[in-house]
Amino acid sequence: MNLKRIAVLTSGGDAPGMNAAVRAVTRKAIFEGLEVYGVYNGYQGLIEGDLVELNLGSVGDIIQRGGTFLRSARCPEFRTEEGRAKAVEQLKKFNIDALVVIGGDGSYRGAQKLTELGFPTIGLPGTIDNDIPGTDATIGFDTALNTALDAIDKIRDTASSHERTYVIEVMGRDAGDIALYSGLAGGAESILVPERPEDLNAIVERINHGIARGKKHSIVIVAEGAGSAEEIGKLIAEKTNSETRVTILGHIQRGGSPTAADRVLASRMGAYAVEILLEGKAGRVVGIRNNQMMDLDIDEALDNNKHTIDMQLIDLVNQLSI
Ligand code: ADP
Repeated sequence: MNLKRIAVLTSGGDAPGMNAAVRAVTRKAIFEGLEVYGVYNGYQGLIEGDLVELNLGSVGDIIQRGGTFLRSARCPEFRTEEGRAKAVEQLKKFNIDALVVIGGDGSYRGAQKLTELGFPTIGLPGTIDNDIPGTDATIGFDTALNTALDAIDKIRDTASSHERTYVIEVMGRDAGDIALYSGLAGGAESILVPERPEDLNAIVERINHGIARGKKHSIVIVAEGAGSAEEIGKLIAEKTNSETRVTILGHIQRGGSPTAADRVLASRMGAYAVEILLEGKAGRVVGIRNNQMMDLDIDEALDNNKHTIDMQLIDLVNQLSI
């Protein structure tokens, strides 16, 4: 592949650190003598030809910003063959040789389709959910986790003055990583994740046991995909006879300045994407394993590497909150 000009886009749900990733792709590419175009609004902008050349200054002062300055979109048209044909046409019109897609597994599916059409594409994992196959961590997860943890700590402060049970719902429709790690770091009594159905009676028993030994308050973390926090709160209130408050953290978990860990990860991944393109690789996704950058085939990533949660850590939450 004769690489002269690449493009970069952010797609699907936005995540803190996407800006740092776009900056890294852009700066590394320019450092290597390439030209870089930014695509606005994800695959939608690709279909519409909403591309602009990025220079060193275009990505200045964004490393610390949440969201994505390229904006993101969900694009139903890209799911159609006609839509994708239009996108490839635009890429050709702008003389783009390769594309870097930053997004979640839906965005990876789009990148896979472009690869099938013969267009060199690299995927970077950008999502707060940490549920992308082929990587230990995704860009945005650490920030969302710390935002959730900060909220849990604040709720715990007020909880100390009342005998109450707090049920806190965090994001994660299919993946319980935010719930698991914020629950472990926040000293929760119990966590509920979509990957492991939990017996609510066991949770109630644990809370009652805590109350009996004089615990002032209990915290239960529920991933949004594990059930309704409202209903779980009601049930706990009934069965423990303790006052119960439900808090749904919601979209604050998507925002905010990326943590150092996310900025470092985004910078490494963005630069690595350019490196493997220069090596002539395409149809790959970038990951981190044991603190090493690595890449794997996009088909393999999507089809054979289902994201799993560390069940031992769930047990640890329960063991440490007796
Ligand atoms: P995320 O990337 O955060 O998982 P989505 O699932 O919404 O977010 O995917 C982002 C976009 O990727 C979609 O709006 C669509 O344009 C594209 N996409 C998702 N799945 C496919 C698919 N199977 N084929 C082609 N494009 C897809």
